[in-house]
Amino acid sequence: MRLLIMGPPGVGKGTQARGIAAHYEVPAISTGDIFRANVRNQTPLGQKVAAIMAEGGYVPDEITDAIVRDRLGEDDAAAGWLLDGYPRTLGQVEALDGVLAESGTALDAVISLVADEDVLVERLLKRAEIEGRADDNADTIRNRMAVYNQATDPLLAIYRDRGLLVEVDGIGTIEEVGGRITAALDQVAAS
Ligand code: ADP
Repeated sequence: MRLLIMGPPGVGKGTQARGIAAHYEVPAISTGDIFRANVRNQTPLGQKVAAIMAEGGYVPDEITDAIVRDRLGEDDAAAGWLLDGYPRTLGQVEALDGVLAESGTALDAVISLVADEDVLVERLLKRAEIEGRADDNADTIRNRMAVYNQATDPLLAIYRDRGLLVEVDGIGTIEEVGGRITAALDQVAAS
């Protein structure tokens, strides 16, 4: 399985990505997690992206594309993967198309988690209180939503046109949403 999971900030992509990846026995690859680990460990990459992330902006495509290309080339990704948080720009869609074409592989499906923006902002503010993630504060959250709506939401149409989009209601318990996703993907696999 080669899958993408897309959706606005706070919709639960990361949580669902880990569950689906375990279900299909493929690695869940999160660009957000990779960047956060680099910031935490103060690597040269981390130093480059820390300020961008703290503001809720996007890391430049050339940096993000190179990281994903390398990661997809690792042994554990040979039989499949689930990408969480990538692609987020038109340039990244094209870069991923290039990586897939080079390896003679293709996407199986693109999961789109859908939820009302007001619900998501509320969720993120609550998470900010509990976890204190550096990019979870009211201003940053609003900026991440705006950047998502402007740069990433339009990409869904591309995958819809390619017949790959699987839209799933993201409101519910972790188990409910996870069940909806696997049911929808099983249908894709059977068709
Ligand atoms: P969220 O889904 O809540 O925005 P992520 O963990 O997916 O959180 O991403 C956190 C941050 O990492 C983003 O706001 C952005 O700064 C950076 N980032 C992650 N993935 C990408 C990407 N594909 N392109 C550019 N920046 C990214």
